Amino acid sequence: MTHTAQIITSYGRRYIVRTPDGQTFDATTRKKRVDFACGDQVEISPINTEQVVIEDFLPRQSLLYRQDAWRTKLIAANVTRLLVVLAAVPSPSEALLQRALLAAEAAEIDAVIVLNKADLPETAAWREKLKFYESLGYRVIETRALEGAETLKPVLQGHTNIFLGQSGMGKSTLTNALLGSQAARTGDISTALDSGKHTTTHAQLYDLDNETQLIDSPGLQEFGLHHLEAANLLQYFPDLRHLAGQCRFHNCTHRAEPNCAVKAAAEKGEVRAERVEFLQRVTDELIR
Ligand code: ZN
Repeated sequence: MTHTAQIITSYGRRYIVRTPDGQTFDATTRKKRVDFACGDQVEISPINTEQVVIEDFLPRQSLLYRQDAWRTKLIAANVTRLLVVLAAVPSPSEALLQRALLAAEAAEIDAVIVLNKADLPETAAWREKLKFYESLGYRVIETRALEGAETLKPVLQGHTNIFLGQSGMGKSTLTNALLGSQAARTGDISTALDSGKHTTTHAQLYDLDNETQLIDSPGLQEFGLHHLEAANLLQYFPDLRHLAGQCRFHNCTHRAEPNCAVKAAAEKGEVRAERVEFLQRVTDELIR
């Protein structure tokens, strides 16, 4: 006899699941399966009053993951809105931002950029830099940690959201601000689980209200995109999408090939050279 539940905490191999009536259980998988993610709706079988086994996941609305040459890391399932959190201090990586946006496009998840710690003077340069991403259609929202909750609430409303970013960008502070009075309780849990560390080491799902969920995820250093197909990459660039299918070769690497529509557009100044370089770099990774 199986029941359904949602994975609310993922440690990579161990999980905590919550049933519709609000009970939580420690969960393991069969045959060392690790293809489950925080946010997944799953079928479970009881082992005892505290432990269950996850049998399988139910159909997913979305799956966000990253993959390098060696392994795949599932980030979250059923997310409908990705919030890339960055702050001018400590120095954020624009490459990581671009990669997270590509992954979101590939997973058909709506992406929003959150420029946190916006009161810092160093923010000005990033505010300027992010105007380009705004021109691509991504919303850019500025937050100052303590006021972050009020600014973000309407953006998150009705979605299953995830905060993604490098460590030190203030994801957990924003999460705590959004949780408000719930924070003390959940803080206790995560402190116990993380043995007192101040950084998030696992993905954790919180309910903000009946129809809004938020997943806080561990800080990212890298964002491998090996799961994407080189031939589809152009579709994931809002500024280059119109050039898809226009190169002479379907497997064009947009470097030395004749009649490359992307290079032609760059030479005419119609698209940004930096974006073409980024496209070339990711293409190289995928065809290696
Ligand atoms: Zn090309």
